[in-house]
Amino acid sequence: MNGINIDLLKNMLSTYSPSGNELKISEVIKSEIKDFVDEIKTDALGNLIARKKGSGKKIMLAGHMDQIALMVTYIDDKGFLRFSNIGGFSPAITLSQRVIFENGTIGVIGSEKLESLKDLKLDKLYIDIGASSKEEAELKVSIGDSCVYFSTPLIDDKKVISQALDDRIGCFVMIEALKKLTDTNNDIYFVFTVQEEVGLRGAKTAAYSIDPDLAIAFDVTATGDTPKAKSMAVKLGDGPAIKIKDNSILCHPKVKNYMIQQAKENNIPYQLEVLELGGTDSGAIHLTRSGVPSGVLSIPCRYLHSDCEMVFLSDVKNSIELTKNILENDLILN
Ligand code: ZN
Repeated sequence: MNGINIDLLKNMLSTYSPSGNELKISEVIKSEIKDFVDEIKTDALGNLIARKKGSGKKIMLAGHMDQIALMVTYIDDKGFLRFSNIGGFSPAITLSQRVIFENGTIGVIGSEKLESLKDLKLDKLYIDIGASSKEEAELKVSIGDSCVYFSTPLIDDKKVISQALDDRIGCFVMIEALKKLTDTNNDIYFVFTVQEEVGLRGAKTAAYSIDPDLAIAFDVTATGDTPKAKSMAVKLGDGPAIKIKDNSILCHPKVKNYMIQQAKENNIPYQLEVLELGGTDSGAIHLTRSGVPSGVLSIPCRYLHSDCEMVFLSDVKNSIELTKNILENDLILN
């Protein structure tokens, strides 16, 4: 379908991987790419770092493996769970969702009785795993356990819907570009980072150890193409978005321009992205050591941080193509 590896994508989207516990997705990615790289290792924080050696510029690519999660803080006498959010959750989106824990326990998010919808806050919500007492709940979950939205990924001939597109789709683009790479001089580090959703933490230590000449992060970005959306010049289906800025970075002009040049020369559709809120791994990477010129390739995505994030397959395909071209050519940064 569209030349996209659907089985791999579905598997990645179905793998449990909350921030701070990314081992399962790391194993899926490692087994998928190990035969395509010269070195592969997991660092002290859990970042998966794969290197395709070359004598040219040292390039770091970063896509985050973690996903937003809810962590159990308290179990009441009746077996209901209170929680804290790991990453950004909207109370309105969270209510009535199904969630799944690492051991497969599934619960639903309920709410206390509220006088007004304005009172809908995360601390008014609880997780109901169907337990009748604290003791029964404790057989299935403990304080500190994390759960993620539970939904089956949907992939049809045009779109993908899943709770984990942020940022499994960025990782997927990196993997598929790596597999398509032919000759390149560049010394390329494919880094699948941990703990992005709680503050770009994995990217920070990985960039320090790699000390790259240049970095590109791969992540989803918001769009302005839904009814009465906040104005934003990014649409599903118009190609990968080359980031100009977000809250964490003003992308280096030379990196941004090189990405645009590669899109133009190879007739790959692209769009320019100015995201007024949010950030991604490049935010941490570009401030590492004495500074790293950095950019971001974004996959346009609707309904971010919900159980039904949506991207178009055409954008995924064009992102893979653009990445391959970016990596195969000699980077001119002077
Ligand atoms: Zn992300």
